[in-house]
Amino acid sequence: MTNITKNWRNYFEYINEDNKNFKLFIETAYGCHGSCGGCPIPLDLRKGTEPKISLEELDQTLTTFAQNLIDFRAKSNFENIENLAITIGPGENLYFSTNYLEKLSILSKKFANSINTKNFHLAVTTSGLFSEKKVESKLIALSKHLSREQLSFAFILNPRQFAKTPQIYYNFANLLFKYSDLIELEINMDNKIHLLTEENIIEFSKFINSFNFIQLDFAYAINLGNFSKTQFTQTQFLNFIEKLRVLTHNSERDFFSQWNKNLHIVPTEEIDYQENFNLNLNNIVSSHIRLNAMGHWHFAKNILGTIYYDQTYSFEPLCSSKGNPYSEENILKFKKQLVSHYNKILHKHKPCLDCLYKNTCLSSGFLSYAQFSESNEEHCSNPSFTIFNKIYESKK
Ligand code: SF4
Repeated sequence: MTNITKNWRNYFEYINEDNKNFKLFIETAYGCHGSCGGCPIPLDLRKGTEPKISLEELDQTLTTFAQNLIDFRAKSNFENIENLAITIGPGENLYFSTNYLEKLSILSKKFANSINTKNFHLAVTTSGLFSEKKVESKLIALSKHLSREQLSFAFILNPRQFAKTPQIYYNFANLLFKYSDLIELEINMDNKIHLLTEENIIEFSKFINSFNFIQLDFAYAINLGNFSKTQFTQTQFLNFIEKLRVLTHNSERDFFSQWNKNLHIVPTEEIDYQENFNLNLNNIVSSHIRLNAMGHWHFAKNILGTIYYDQTYSFEPLCSSKGNPYSEENILKFKKQLVSHYNKILHKHKPCLDCLYKNTCLSSGFLSYAQFSESNEEHCSNPSFTIFNKIYESKK
């Protein structure tokens, strides 16, 4: 049997190696009744449970985009996209009607066919906070036109919430595995995460070990509203991860693989800033794109699940366009804004000036954290600094 886990992950994580993989993120949903402190969606936006994009608008937008994408790739001499991952989120999609969900899967498949990709997945974000009775018809609708390998779920779970109602999560995970083999568990946190007890972590690990999750990851994004809400210190944060890693070790499953495999820790003096910037720019433009809820296209890069360059989450807009995102004008605009965005953060955050990990930080997306740091800070408080250090030391 082929190793589905590894292949599936490759669609998402090794995007830039041969230009054969492409990730399209569509903002369909902001609503959620979860309470994750690291959620990128501000609380007021989480209240709306209606789809953010109508099916008609989505169909039209994707049809035009397919042609733009094909033309851009032909001009850039890229081969056909082999693996396409369409992710819908970032909120709860399972609020939507069965009709919407079924058509969403049909439209996704239509787009995949129109760009002639060999493999495709539709990845659906869900919080799991539903009764089986309410949600099963929606899973049936979603999976009606897709094979088990074409449907996957990003199951976002807050361990403190799990500690209160574990059975709900066991039931929900059982249900998801009825419809897909590709379930990734994304761990999120509320502002009392530091109160999790040893016993809570052990129980949570038992839950993880009871299912064949293909990947464990850590979903945490910041914006002006949620920064400082999670009261973990950097050390507590890494200890928590390390405990979970030890308790849930499984050689078939990647654990925070992005951190270890995707973060190429290159000391600043070993790679030129400009060269690295260009690599980063090409990677973003050729492999990821995001359609936001306003119908604007963004080049987007994310790591740790959810760090975006987007005004929706208090980031400055970096070239959003209603038209063809690949027009020369739009790519140039994006490049200029990205340079100015990076420079602004690097100059505002004092510790960046001589940082060993400047290039890594820039290409990881983590640099965005620095814009929320105190301006007079002596040492970098960005969680990335600790992570880079740890990986760098372990690879020496
Ligand atoms: S790790 Fe910290 S100091 Fe280094 S570049 Fe990133 S934000 Fe700046």
